Amino acid sequence: MLYNTMDILVSLPFFIGLIYLVLAFLYRSVKWIKGLSKFDKLRLMQSMISKRLFNSIREIFLESLLHRKIFRKNRVLGYMHMSLAFGWFLLIIVGHVETMIADQSLLVPFHKAVFFRFYNTNEDFQLTKFFAFAMDFLLLFVLSGLVLAMLKRFKKKVFGLRRTTKLKSGDRIALTSLWLIFPLRLLAESNTAAIYHNGGFLTSGVGHLMSYLVNPDVLYIALWMAYSMALGFFFVSLPNSRYMHIPTEVVLIFLRNAGIKHKKQNDTYTDVQVYSCSRCGLCLDRCQLSVAGIDDSQSVYLLKNIRNNNLSDEKLFNCLMCGKCQIDCPVGIETINLRITQRIESTRQYNSSYEYLKTYESPKADVIYFAGCMTHLTPGIFTAMKQIFALSGQNVWFMDEDKAPCCGRPLILAGQYEAAKKLIENNTQMILDSGASTLVVSCPICYRVFKEDYTLHNVNVVFHSEYIQNLISAEILPVQKSELKMVYHDPCELGRGMGMYEQPRELLKLVGNVIPLNEEKENAYCCGGSLGNIKIKANQTHLLRDQALSEFKALNPDILVTTCPKCKKTFASGRKIKVMDIAEIVVDVLVKGEDKRTIIPREEIIEEASLKSDLVKL
Ligand code: SF4
Ligand code: SF4
Repeated sequence: MLYNTMDILVSLPFFIGLIYLVLAFLYRSVKWIKGLSKFDKLRLMQSMISKRLFNSIREIFLESLLHRKIFRKNRVLGYMHMSLAFGWFLLIIVGHVETMIADQSLLVPFHKAVFFRFYNTNEDFQLTKFFAFAMDFLLLFVLSGLVLAMLKRFKKKVFGLRRTTKLKSGDRIALTSLWLIFPLRLLAESNTAAIYHNGGFLTSGVGHLMSYLVNPDVLYIALWMAYSMALGFFFVSLPNSRYMHIPTEVVLIFLRNAGIKHKKQNDTYTDVQVYSCSRCGLCLDRCQLSVAGIDDSQSVYLLKNIRNNNLSDEKLFNCLMCGKCQIDCPVGIETINLRITQRIESTRQYNSSYEYLKTYESPKADVIYFAGCMTHLTPGIFTAMKQIFALSGQNVWFMDEDKAPCCGRPLILAGQYEAAKKLIENNTQMILDSGASTLVVSCPICYRVFKEDYTLHNVNVVFHSEYIQNLISAEILPVQKSELKMVYHDPCELGRGMGMYEQPRELLKLVGNVIPLNEEKENAYCCGGSLGNIKIKANQTHLLRDQALSEFKALNPDILVTTCPKCKKTFASGRKIKVMDIAEIVVDVLVKGEDKRTIIPREEIIEEASLKSDLVKL
């Protein structure tokens, strides 16, 4: 088919935009790939010739086109994203098939499918009616998503959203052109249908109506030109707008499926994650900070500020590190790790040194108990654990009872990674020297760092609730079920951080009754006392604490149980409900019969502990 000047002119804006977009994306992709380490490049190449390639394609289909994760969280929002992305994708694919059948050729120019009704005005080919119907149906599908997108901008509550993100000028240009593309396509195709008496159920109907208002011949070129310009503008503005997330998310999926991981320094993977954020706003809505009046440091703003190179410490450090946004992010952005990396970068010049740290001689033991700083601040947990260990009959070393090294996680959360590494090195040495095969921790913050950042070959790191449950199963700890009505609070680091939701509940069910909460497990509230937030003020912490407490209180339980000393301390300060650690509950329901071993009286342990602390003071 020969093209005349007008044919070329009409598709020119589309072509210019498309070429610019492809070049801009190629430029970024090459930069990203060049920025990968040798090892990561190798991983990426290997993944392209393995099953991982199919995993990536599958994920792109499910998440980038169908937006399955958004759909699960919010159906209306999911439908909106799906109809725009998948609908447009189908318009391209079905349009291409239509063009191939019409031209009876497997090789048809890409733009011909985009402007098919402009180039094929009166050709009659096989399946004409079917394609006219299918293409109109798909256009309607996309338009329905567009209506929802407009509604979301102006009436976010319809979507169950409290807030949406603000647009920059680049975003506005891209958004306006995107919003114009499909209505202009509808008008151009309908107008053409009115002239040539063809089209599907939608375009012929709209064309008929249009012809009453204006002579279709007058609008013919203008409408097709406008459609082409909207496409061109969108493609040109896309690399400098939020819509760059569309191709970037595809790159992220390939990198992730290749096994490339987030590192504790800015690199290609960080950059790709930052540009993959779709600004869907789900993290905004889930973040508790707004309850405390903090509205500018949520993950979507963190990513925006990294992109714009204007991230302040106030915004970087004003986050609970609770992980709610990470759980909800449909793109799978590691918001917590990203924030930690930015904290490391931001405090690099102030990195404190722990060079003076010494390792101490470790006594030989079967089990090590690492209470952690927070447990030492809530001695009831320490006391309960001592009672449990006394019954276990095992040779236990209370590693941080006298000389108390930190586990290192608070330093990591504060961005002091080098200092944390030194602590970790020291602790590792002492743990391995003891010859212990089990390390028990009663703080989720310690648990996470021991599991994720320590290399402890042959040492099994167990959370105290697991250890206790094992002792009960082995009939070493005799407990009897009580009538207690309990609510269980999932600490952020244990639940969302380590995925441990069921085990503490199973243990609690052995000793009493657990009332389910509305917001629990992945959706559990943060207590507000997070160590990860060094900017939050005390009154703001109280607002977050009280939000969670009011949910617990509404169920009228006897006790609020948690498995984190920091959460216990924060909730207890609210003085609204009795708060206990899971270890304390177990000790309270131990069977103290004659045939059982004696429990060390609580008072004795407290006395011993206070004697030790007096000695330390001296
Ligand atoms: S970080 Fe994730 S959840 Fe938040 S706006 Fe971006 S894509 Fe959406
Ligand atoms: S980690 Fe928690 S507090 Fe921080 S931005 Fe995400 S949801 Fe908000």
